[in-house]
Amino acid sequence: MIPDYEFSFYFVMVTSIIAIFWLEALFPLERDNWDFEHLGRNFIIWLLAFITADYLIAYYWIDIQSIIRQQSFGLFYWFSLPADWMLLVIGVLLVDLSDYLYHRLSHHSRLLWRLHAVHHTDTQLDVSTTLRAHPLELVTSNFWKFGFALLFGVPIWIIGFRELLIFPLSFLQHANVALPTWLEKAGATLFITPSIHKLHHSIIRKERDNNYGEGLILWDKLFRSFLQPDSARPDTYGVENCTDEKYQTLDGMIMTPLTIFRPPTPS
Ligand SMILES: [Zn+2]
Ligand SMILES: [Zn+2]
Repeated sequence: MIPDYEFSFYFVMVTSIIAIFWLEALFPLERDNWDFEHLGRNFIIWLLAFITADYLIAYYWIDIQSIIRQQSFGLFYWFSLPADWMLLVIGVLLVDLSDYLYHRLSHHSRLLWRLHAVHHTDTQLDVSTTLRAHPLELVTSNFWKFGFALLFGVPIWIIGFRELLIFPLSFLQHANVALPTWLEKAGATLFITPSIHKLHHSIIRKERDNNYGEGLILWDKLFRSFLQPDSARPDTYGVENCTDEKYQTLDGMIMTPLTIFRPPTPS
C-alpha cells in the first residue's frame, strides 16, 4: 500500500463501518441480527486476506504499485487527455469495469468460483460480509486489477481514489439496513444499490448469476446481466449445498475452495 495513502484508506474504512453499524442499529432490515461471532469471523478472514494480498505479496514480494507508477505505456500515455478531470472520470470508469469483468468471470470460471464462493456462503448479510473474501481471491483480484491498470496506463492514484469511493457503497450494499424505497430508486439510476447487490447473494443460482457491478449499474445494463430485485432481499442467502455450519467457521472458510461442491450446469 502507498504509505501516504494509508491514512485515507483506514480513515474511510473505519468511519464507513461505524456509520453503517449505527444505521444497522437504527434502521435494521431484519431484527435480532447482531451476531458478534459472525462479525468476528468475517473480520478475521479479511485481516488474513489483507495481510496476504496487500502486504506479503503486493508490497513486499512484488512492488506492483511502483511498477505502475514507473510505467510509460498504455492508452492514457498514447492519447493525452486535455484535462485532469477527464483522466479521473475515464480512469474510475475503467477500474469499475475491470472489477465488473473479474466478478463476472469469478461466477463462470470453476477455479475462480472456488475462491469467490467464500463471499457467497455467508447465510446472513451484514456490514461484515463486505470484508468476507478468501485470501487467495484478494491476491488474484489484485493482480487482475493492477494488470488492467498497466494495460490501459491508469495512474495508481486513480485506483486508490476509486477504492475510497467504493468502500462506503460496498459496506452499505451488504448492510442489514432498510433503505427507504425512494432512496433505492434514486440510487439505482447510477449505482448498484443494496437490494440489487443482495439479490446477487441469493441461494438461487439464476438470481445470483446477475448484478456483478461493484459501483456503477452501467456495466450490468450494458452487458445484459442486470436483474431487477422485487424486494429488499432474496428469501435465502448462501450457496446451494454449502449451507452447513462448516462453511461458516474460519478454517471452513479457508478450506472452502477445496470442499465446495458445484453442480456441473453451465450458466
Ligand atoms: Zn459474486
Ligand atoms: Zn457481496
